[in-house]
Amino acid sequence: MAATVIDGKALAARVRGEVAEGVAQFAAEHGRPPGLATILIGDDPASAIYVGSKQKVTGEVGMRGFDHRLPADVPREEVVALIERLNADPEVSGILCQLPVPDHLDGVELTGLIDPGKDVDGLTPISAGLLALGREGLRPCTPLGAMLLIDEAGAQLEGAEAVVVGRSNLFGKPMAQLLLAANATVTICHSRTRDLPGVCRRADVLVAAVGRDRMVKGDWIKPGATVIDVGINRSDDGLHGDVEYDEAVEVAGAITPVPGGVGPMTIACLLRNTLQAARMAAR
Ligand code: NAP
Repeated sequence: MAATVIDGKALAARVRGEVAEGVAQFAAEHGRPPGLATILIGDDPASAIYVGSKQKVTGEVGMRGFDHRLPADVPREEVVALIERLNADPEVSGILCQLPVPDHLDGVELTGLIDPGKDVDGLTPISAGLLALGREGLRPCTPLGAMLLIDEAGAQLEGAEAVVVGRSNLFGKPMAQLLLAANATVTICHSRTRDLPGVCRRADVLVAAVGRDRMVKGDWIKPGATVIDVGINRSDDGLHGDVEYDEAVEVAGAITPVPGGVGPMTIACLLRNTLQAARMAAR
């Protein structure tokens, strides 16, 4: 029987609706809406599109947007001064520095300067530490979205075998931490993993975040498993994930499509984090 397709677009719309309600309630209680500041350095067209859509949805849910654009040759000191100003601004609940930044700057260093209470991307060392310690904090948006999709699919994580393919700081590591916190038995795979198909076949929940077009084949998947495909690979024949969807959909119990699965959840979770940051700051 073909898998249930997990509709990320529909779930993201629902999350945005919940955030909009929370924003209205926050504004009524505090006399101002939460605010999201984005920093875009340089003129990379893809980054400009990402930041543009983040600012657009920020307005749609009733939050204030602060759209900061800096030239590609901006001195480091100017970026640092902007981040410090935003850290101190009570109107700004969340700050996001769009990566990558131009070569003369260090994206990891700049991100690390963001106040952890405003780190809505969840990528600073403090946010990573809070996640590792199981303490309250802001979680990275894409793994958070993947967890909501797993929940939407009705998958039981308690005691389940979860396999994450990919160990990036952006996705694989925080994803594994979130699964562990949900009491799954977690295995993290990477480019040196031996018998990757065999490890994947153990997974009740399989999460692929590799960046390799349709690498995970149908016979790597345990029948009935929940499959979350994080990959975004563009080729001549369109956009594909890291999972060979046509094969996997025949074996899995539930699966996210690409596009329309994990992708739409990332921005929805950014808004969710911004509301959470505003609420944390108001306590
Ligand atoms: P990344 O930093 O390039 O990490 C890729 C990971 O895959 C690494 O850990 C690497 O292992 C592993 N890997 C590479 N080749 C492999 C192989 N043959 N077998 C097993 N593992 C292998 O990528 P990322 O930032 O995590 O992103 C992964 C994918 O998700 C990309 O397609 C990206 O576009 C997509 N993505 C989507 C969203 C979204 O919003 N939908 C957000 C973030 C990322 P090593 O560590 O050993 O090198």
